[in-house]
Amino acid sequence: MRNIIIAIDGYSSCGKSTLARDLASALRFGYVDSGAMYRAVTLYFLNHSIDYDDRAAVIEALRHIRIEFRNINHQNRTFLNGQDVEDDIRDMRVSSAVSPVAAIPEVRRALVQQQKALGQTGGIVMDGRDIGTVVFPDAELKIFLTADPDERVRRRQLELTAKGLELTEESVRENLLERDRIDSTRADSPLRQADDAIVIDNTLLNRQEQLELALQLAHETMKQPA
Ligand code: C5P
Repeated sequence: MRNIIIAIDGYSSCGKSTLARDLASALRFGYVDSGAMYRAVTLYFLNHSIDYDDRAAVIEALRHIRIEFRNINHQNRTFLNGQDVEDDIRDMRVSSAVSPVAAIPEVRRALVQQQKALGQTGGIVMDGRDIGTVVFPDAELKIFLTADPDERVRRRQLELTAKGLELTEESVRENLLERDRIDSTRADSPLRQADDAIVIDNTLLNRQEQLELALQLAHETMKQPA
């Protein structure tokens, strides 16, 4: 069996991270949440009042940002300059600012370089917006996940409620659609389906069903000769 790279891309709140995490655990692969990296950079920019339009300030700030993933109590957590920021990067303050930050070419260049390095050895599942198109254009398996927008809003709201955050359906919907719009229309590596990606629409699938479907694809790919 080959140690392949699995790229999962798609719109916001399609369940990419859930599928990526489940797949990585079933295959004993590494998992990288590339969105968490853009969120961590955004948190740093917000906390240090970095002006996104000031290229020099952005480049200087990027030199001071170190992002790592650590496994704490079987949970993948994001660390920014040695500090656990996993909870902070999920809040609305960061969600509202992340897409404009992720559209900055210098930010993308820095993070894509780190993402490529993380996948060097293979045996990895990475989810995001440009994984199959830019980060790993040669990934052996590319999945493009989609789901009905109403279902995505419902799932996102459940996730936020579980974290104790009460937001109106309207504000959740607005944030999702606005991020999708910015992510798919930006000039630098916009979100799009790679030509060789396999589309999975999980609107009517539960977590186990989507995992089984993806696992079947992974096993078929891993059996193929390099
Ligand atoms: O995956 P998640 O929703 O946490 O990603 C947050 C944001 O990070 C996305 O809306 C997008 O703007 C950006 N992102 C990106 N490229 C990636 C992953 C995330 O531009 N590979």
